[in-house]
Amino acid sequence: MKQNLIGGEWVDGPRATRNINPSDTRDLIGEYALADAAQTKTAIAAAETAAAGWGLSTPQQRFDALDAIGSEILARKAELGDLLAREEGKRLPEAIGEVTRAGNIFKFFAGEALRQAGEVLGSVRPGVGVEVTREPVGVVGLITPWNFPIAIPAWKIAPALAHGNAVVFKPAELVPGSAWALAEIISRSGIPAGVFNLVMGRGTEVGATMLEDKRVNAISFTGSVGTGQRVAAACVSRFAKFQLEMGGKNPFVVLDDADLAVAVNCAVDSGFFSTGQRCTASSRVIVTEGIHDKFVAAVAERIKTLKVDDARKAGTDIGPVVDDRQLAQNLEYVKIGQDEGARLVTGGQAIPTNVDGQPGYFMAPALFADTAPTMRINTEEIFGPVVSVQKVKNYDEALHLANDTPFGLASGIATTSLKHATHFKRHAQAGMVMVNLPTAGVDYHVPFGGRKGSSYGPREQGKYAAEFFTTVKTAYTSA
Ligand code: ADP
Repeated sequence: MKQNLIGGEWVDGPRATRNINPSDTRDLIGEYALADAAQTKTAIAAAETAAAGWGLSTPQQRFDALDAIGSEILARKAELGDLLAREEGKRLPEAIGEVTRAGNIFKFFAGEALRQAGEVLGSVRPGVGVEVTREPVGVVGLITPWNFPIAIPAWKIAPALAHGNAVVFKPAELVPGSAWALAEIISRSGIPAGVFNLVMGRGTEVGATMLEDKRVNAISFTGSVGTGQRVAAACVSRFAKFQLEMGGKNPFVVLDDADLAVAVNCAVDSGFFSTGQRCTASSRVIVTEGIHDKFVAAVAERIKTLKVDDARKAGTDIGPVVDDRQLAQNLEYVKIGQDEGARLVTGGQAIPTNVDGQPGYFMAPALFADTAPTMRINTEEIFGPVVSVQKVKNYDEALHLANDTPFGLASGIATTSLKHATHFKRHAQAGMVMVNLPTAGVDYHVPFGGRKGSSYGPREQGKYAAEFFTTVKTAYTSA
């Protein structure tokens, strides 16, 4: 039984959860303690007690801890990647890539701990000096989803600690393994007891307790729009700081002048890799009419070569869907698309077992063509290996459709035209824009986030993370 880390102690919970491998549902990865509301409050109290001391720790102490965490993650990337692939279903190379990203994030924020700087300004009043500095927010609650079991926790925990905050971390119920492994590494990094707490548990119990507790000064959340709204309402009502990363319905535009191979690679990568379970995945591909038929045929050909199999098996291109609920939802959307009159070009059916007879949540990647912008498969986030193509007359229509969504996380284009690329970068209504690159796949040292209904609050990652994890103080001194 893997336990929670509360106030520096590993503790059992009143309940436990079984972590199951979606590539083989007979494979039990382990049992993990589930904290309840009372234990969550104990973790928050421990964080509150530890926050003051950690807030005054030296940049060197923070650097050393974060650097050690990053080094261990990188040294164990094969093992941690295997665990991640086993519990979430991301194929092994992608899983190892995610672990590497997590290690690099800790290294980056180790450096950020040393780079904390303020401003010294002259006052408008004679004989007065002004200093602008950043201070920790205090206790931060971090609530994460299942689709990036180690990278998203890393990109919330590392800046929180680097900027001197105490952390209460609640991972998603489906992927406790990577979260626990990360917490165990953090527990040996030299950080004082109570500065970092792991509370695995249910969203409605552990998460909700974190939202309501006045001692939690800020909540950083990644997950669904519905839960994001709950986080926002709870935080506004008690004036806590909050940051939300939620859904997307990211467009990828393909223009007549695109390099066909580049366009196909980008669409297949960001539509189907990681089983389409990335908030930056592009599920809407908007293609101008001159290249449309060639593009659809080439993507369909490529999809047929993709191996859907055990996430940890060499040669697998697409692993399973994360669980039965998500699989049922994907299949339901395939049916909705067909009922709405879209043409299912290929895929879309469940594959109950892989070639070795392992029962898993496998699904053939689905490509729809001849879709209309108003169809539900083009307006609602599916979060699976389902991509729909819309045919348009020209760039202007493509840009209009790309932006015609309540979401605004990532937006991509395949074109060899400098004019269109430049215009698209300027006019795409998204937090991240990609030219001749998949919408999914971002660097770890620059801001990540969206606009409109995808995100709320300051950006995550890179030096921009300081905005959320610190509060600004302006000090005046008369000499
Ligand atoms: P998904 O549909 O991707 O699982 P959720 O928004 O349900 O997205 O979950 C994202 C995270 O939010 C998970 O850690 C989950 O446990 C947590 N969560 C779910 N419901 C609540 C809630 N009512 N309050 C706080 N956290 C919640």
